Amino acid sequence: MPEQPPVRSTTPPDASAVRQVRPRTEGWSQKKDSEGRPMLQFASPKRGKPPVHLADMTAEQRVEKVKELGMPAFRAAQLEKHYFTHYTADPERMTDLPAATRAEFVAGMLPPLLTEVRRLKTDRGDTIKFLWKLHDGALVESVLMRYPGRITLCVSSQAGCGMNCPFCATGQAGLTRNMSAAEIIDQVVRANALIRAGELGEPEHPDERVTNIVFMGMGEPLANYARLMQSVRVMTDQKHGLGMSARGITVSTVGLVPAIKKLAAEEIPVTFALSLHAPDDQLRDELIPVNSRWKVDEALDAARAYFDATGRRVSIEYALIKDMNDHAWRADLLAEKLNARGRGWVHVNPIPLNPTPGSVWTSSEKPVQAEFVRRLNAAGIPTTLRDTRGKEIDGACGQLVATEEDQAAAAAG
Ligand code: SF4
Repeated sequence: MPEQPPVRSTTPPDASAVRQVRPRTEGWSQKKDSEGRPMLQFASPKRGKPPVHLADMTAEQRVEKVKELGMPAFRAAQLEKHYFTHYTADPERMTDLPAATRAEFVAGMLPPLLTEVRRLKTDRGDTIKFLWKLHDGALVESVLMRYPGRITLCVSSQAGCGMNCPFCATGQAGLTRNMSAAEIIDQVVRANALIRAGELGEPEHPDERVTNIVFMGMGEPLANYARLMQSVRVMTDQKHGLGMSARGITVSTVGLVPAIKKLAAEEIPVTFALSLHAPDDQLRDELIPVNSRWKVDEALDAARAYFDATGRRVSIEYALIKDMNDHAWRADLLAEKLNARGRGWVHVNPIPLNPTPGSVWTSSEKPVQAEFVRRLNAAGIPTTLRDTRGKEIDGACGQLVATEEDQAAAAAG
């Protein structure tokens, strides 16, 4: 008898043969709509807008604003240099500005946006989580991580989040508001100031700064599209901004398909990451409520179209959750769906969760993780388990939340 090819099954096996843990919230209830589906909030509630800041404006608008404040146009370039190169908004350090009007002028162009409430460091000091208070009291976080040869900052793009994922602490309270572009940028500038001061682990050289940005902090970045894009333009602007490489910037989404298409048309080749977490609609509808709007296949089609438009290989993020989404057949189904859209356009980053005994949201067993990765690689999909640095200070993606303790620290500060 000829040898049979190995059996690969991409359909769920007999239910009794496989343990299937279903997603559910623990210790809180998801808000539901009138049809009983988890509520999705796309529009930002109307709250007092943060003050307009230089980083919210185009170069032309900055010049206009400078003139409005009674200064000659060239002062705009001086302020850009202080803020984007020297990482300061302190008028005392801007001795090239006229002393008499300096404080008022700087307050008009670089109003304070983030107040540091708390800073948590790992023992070696190479990972720092910041808790920031915004002008209206909303709390957001960013996480700064040193790796050999690069420094990554995980930024927040919204206060809270309207996507209501049942595993995510950030989504529990819903969307407080969109962050402004300058509030996003200021997280980077503040991190750069700290690095410059030598406060992030062992410096590799004196001109170090953030090299990589991941939009994986609080919020769904594509739900705050215009401000996300303004912040990316400022990050990548060589003359009037931070001068970073677009390739070092990763925009991640749970799958807002129309916005993915818009992003593909921007001609800014940022790295694009789709937080998929399940290859089948049945599970993903429960795991990522926005899947009720745009299904797995639509999200994958949009991701493939992103690759076509930009030539940038897409990342698929996949948190491995024990007995929920880590089954071998799901690895095979994922590989099948990715291969159906061509070769060489995608890689998969499975992310092991922290072990949480007694919770449905606990990490896959090591051999299960290994088998999941092996199956994808064997099917020709480059797959690497992602580093989960930051988890030890509760600062990894999807876990960012202001705890009651944080709220108390903010109120006291
Ligand atoms: S996982 Fe991301 S998209 Fe989902 S609620 Fe949390 S922050 Fe929002």
